[in-house]
Amino acid sequence: MSLKNVMNEKGYFGDFGGSFVPPQLQKVLDTLEEKFYECIQEPEFIKELDYQFQQYVGRPNPLFHAQKLSKKLGGCKIFLKREDLNHTGSHKINNTIGQVLLAKQMGLKRIIAETGAGQHGVATATAAALFDMECIIYMGEEDTRRQSLNVYRMQLLGAKVNAVTSGTRTLKDAVDEALNDLVENYDHTYYMLGSAVGPHPYPMIVRYFQSIIGREAREQVIKQEGRLPDYVMACVGGGSNAIGLFSGFIDDAEVKIIGVEPAGHGIATGKHAATLSIGKPGVIHGFKCHVLCDEEGKPLPTHSVAAGLDYPGVGPEHSHLKESGRAQYVSVTDEEALNAFQELSRTEGIIPALESAHAIAHAMKLAPTLDKDKILIVNLSGRGDKDVAQVFEILQSRQKN
Ligand SMILES: *Cc1c(COP(=O)(O)O)cnc(C)c1O
Repeated sequence: MSLKNVMNEKGYFGDFGGSFVPPQLQKVLDTLEEKFYECIQEPEFIKELDYQFQQYVGRPNPLFHAQKLSKKLGGCKIFLKREDLNHTGSHKINNTIGQVLLAKQMGLKRIIAETGAGQHGVATATAAALFDMECIIYMGEEDTRRQSLNVYRMQLLGAKVNAVTSGTRTLKDAVDEALNDLVENYDHTYYMLGSAVGPHPYPMIVRYFQSIIGREAREQVIKQEGRLPDYVMACVGGGSNAIGLFSGFIDDAEVKIIGVEPAGHGIATGKHAATLSIGKPGVIHGFKCHVLCDEEGKPLPTHSVAAGLDYPGVGPEHSHLKESGRAQYVSVTDEEALNAFQELSRTEGIIPALESAHAIAHAMKLAPTLDKDKILIVNLSGRGDKDVAQVFEILQSRQKN
């Protein structure tokens, strides 16, 4: 696959992306970029990646025709790309398996990563366990308390979880600590980023490993339906599951692309993370993208019922796809996502992740407006087992009130 077409030499997608980091870190990123290009031209590397995708992750996963949901919503065909059936229950493993192979190829045996809700931390610890690597996860102390089961999962998988006590004790501070570690230990350490964000070359690397979603979906829909879909859609946090699916269809002008952001309690309340819908271009965590920030450019606190969508920036390629008009970005509230969570569970026997429920919720709005012959692919980025207790609590507390 040629990456040159989607990005210019300096790691920009249109006006977005790039690398805004101190010189020491830039050197590490330059080496990473060079090694990455070497690896993906190496047939042995691709062979091993394919093997792990098949035998460990469980790919290809199905493109499932959700017939009952389709019928209920007026009849256009809704297909679900079943990333929820991957080992560990989401698309995140595609990226961590890919990057751990890259680390191995670079001769690095120590993996570090940041995590917010813990899902990327668990996927990282899983890949590190498989390849016998030392694994250190930085997590805000506040998050370790909120997500104590994920902390235990990571420890069970052999990782060390470092609770970060600086700043607000959440994701942003974990990122800072992980970057400090990298600058000190780069000669034997690999920094595993969890979404299609960060300074170049990370958005490109993550896109590369997640693009398996779009390649499979494209092949499957052609095989099953004899043609391309009319719409593809996915939820957008940092944007990795979305860019993975979209990458398979960006060059097909007839396919409409829709990213779904979390509107939280509603855009007007300020309690949301709808970065592309109302953010402004700015620099966050070393790259340029749409950012939710105040007048002085300071990142604003964000909210979503889905922890994985709660990020004040977004992958630079999404900013570009929005500005160029190739993709449309819409938003869905917590309430709509909670409804979709229950609806898909009841109708198809599939409990979606709350993140994925945002994409389902938008499909539920769009489908009734479409002709019966239309085809829609929704990325089911993960399974909802992790969210069942949270939804139970939310719905219970409402009954009491
Ligand atoms: C982490 C996560 C997301 C959000 O991350 P992206 O990089 O935007 O894909 C979405 N769905 C699930 C299930 C996740 O775990």
